[in-house]
Amino acid sequence: MKIRQHPRMRDIIVGDEVYSYPENLFARVADVFPAAVCVKIGILSVDDHLEITLSPQLWRAEDIENLSVCRYCGSRENIRTEAGTGIPFRVCESCSPVDEESHTAVAGA
Ligand SMILES: [Zn+2]
Repeated sequence: MKIRQHPRMRDIIVGDEVYSYPENLFARVADVFPAAVCVKIGILSVDDHLEITLSPQLWRAEDIENLSVCRYCGSRENIRTEAGTGIPFRVCESCSPVDEESHTAVAGA
């Protein structure tokens, strides 16, 4: 059986931060597969006492966004967090939109 790799999986490596749209969760990649990643989710249990257990989950490539690379070109260099989206997308310098905020940042540097 031939497993086709999802295009998004080319840019994902173990340790990357990913965001799941259906789960509304952030997690760090523990393992990569051709069309999915395995992440460990911290689940807080309050049955007897407070306890956090790490639960492995499989997230499909089409449901996730890799936050460790530029969201437009996939670069890992000169990336910064894009403000104002609620999700900490990373954007590299060359894809970064020129707006008033970045003008201020340049002027202050
Ligand atoms: Zn970029």
